[in-house]
Amino acid sequence: MKKITIAIDGFSSCGKSTMAKELAKKIGYIYIDSGAMYRAVTLYCLKNNLIVDGKVDEEGLKAQIDNIHIEFRLDESTGLPQTYLNGENVEREIRNMEVSSYVSPVAALPFVRKAMVHEQQLMGEKKGIVMDGRDIGTVVFPDAELKIFLTASPQVRAQRRVDELTAKGEPVSFEEVLKNVEMRDHIDQTREESPLRRAEDALLLDNSDLTIAEQDKWLMDTFDNVVSSL
Ligand code: C5P
Repeated sequence: MKKITIAIDGFSSCGKSTMAKELAKKIGYIYIDSGAMYRAVTLYCLKNNLIVDGKVDEEGLKAQIDNIHIEFRLDESTGLPQTYLNGENVEREIRNMEVSSYVSPVAALPFVRKAMVHEQQLMGEKKGIVMDGRDIGTVVFPDAELKIFLTASPQVRAQRRVDELTAKGEPVSFEEVLKNVEMRDHIDQTREESPLRRAEDALLLDNSDLTIAEQDKWLMDTFDNVVSSL
C-alpha cells in the first residue's frame, strides 16, 4: 500500500503525541515528536548556561546550534521512541516543568526553527511518517496527504497534563500548569516565525469531550478514507 505523510498539529497538551504514537504503531509508520526536538534544544540551553536570568542567550545558542545533535531511538522493551541529545537519553528530562517554561521562547527563534525543520524534512523524505507539532502541516510538510489540527479547552488540557505529571511522581498545581499552557498557546500563536495555525486543508478535531476510543476510531476511519482515495 502507498505510504503517506501524516501531519498532526495543535495546541499544547491536547494529546497530539498520544494520538500520533498510537496511529503510527497501528499502521506501521515512523513516529516523530517534533516538540521533543525543541525541548531537547531547550535542555541543552539550560545545561550550558545559555539561559541566564530567565533569558535565552541568542548569540551563544546560535554559535552552538551545530553542536546540538538530536535523534530518536526505539526503546526495545516498550517499542517507543526515546529522545537522545548528543548521545544521551533525555526523554524524561525534557518533559519537566523547567524545560516546559522555556521551550516556547527557544522555539520562537528563527535559526532554531530553521535547523529543526531541516532535520524533520530529512526524516520524512521517504514518507510513512506521522509527525506531530505546531507547524508540520503548514511549514514542514505542506504537501502531507493527511493533516489534522487537534484542539481542546485550556482547562481540559491543563488537567490532563497535571494527571500525567502526577502519575510520573512529579506533582504540580493545576494553576501552575494552566498558566504554562496559556502562556505557550500565546507565544506559539503570536510568534513571527511559523506561528501555530491550522492549515487550510487540515481537518479540525476538538477532543475535549472525546474518549480515547472514540478518537482512535475517528482517526482510523479518516486514515482509511484518505488512503483509499489515493
Ligand atoms: O509538543 P510539545 O508541547 O512538547 O512542544 C513543546 C513546545 O515546542 C511547544 O510549546 C512549542 O513552543 C514548540 N514547538 C514548536 N513547533 C513544533 C513543535 C513544538 O514551536 N513543531
